[in-house]
Amino acid sequence: MVSRGIPLASTSCVFCDVSDEDLHHCFFLCPRVEMVWRKIWSWWGIASPRPTYLEFLNMDIPTSRKNNIINVVFKATCVVSLWSIWAWRNRIFHAEDSEVEKLKLEDPFASIQKLSGFWISNRSRNIRIDLDFWVSNPTAVSER
Ligand SMILES: [Zn+2]
Repeated sequence: MVSRGIPLASTSCVFCDVSDEDLHHCFFLCPRVEMVWRKIWSWWGIASPRPTYLEFLNMDIPTSRKNNIINVVFKATCVVSLWSIWAWRNRIFHAEDSEVEKLKLEDPFASIQKLSGFWISNRSRNIRIDLDFWVSNPTAVSER
């Protein structure tokens, strides 16, 4: 934000207060955010790719079924995750001082699971998601 001319009281990462905040750090490299991504990779049953930037959105899920729908759903899940991390960051950034430490301890993973299922099922005419099974198996999706 500073590089875009927006004055800030601090340029430190709101999650860790250690590193300067930039896109790489805020969305991927901060240890608090990396913990969330590790849960997402585990949920999808894939090894942590340790993404360095938004190019990871071009990554395909290794699937023996060659199911393009699964890759579309995975990428949509990643977009919802990025949005959720940004919303989490903004809740901390705009919080009263007395609320900051509590907000830093939040874990957005469970809400990412629910929100991504709702978002994908509401936004896609072609993909059917059974929300009862989504959290336990995000690859159990099918075409309408
Ligand atoms: Zn950080």
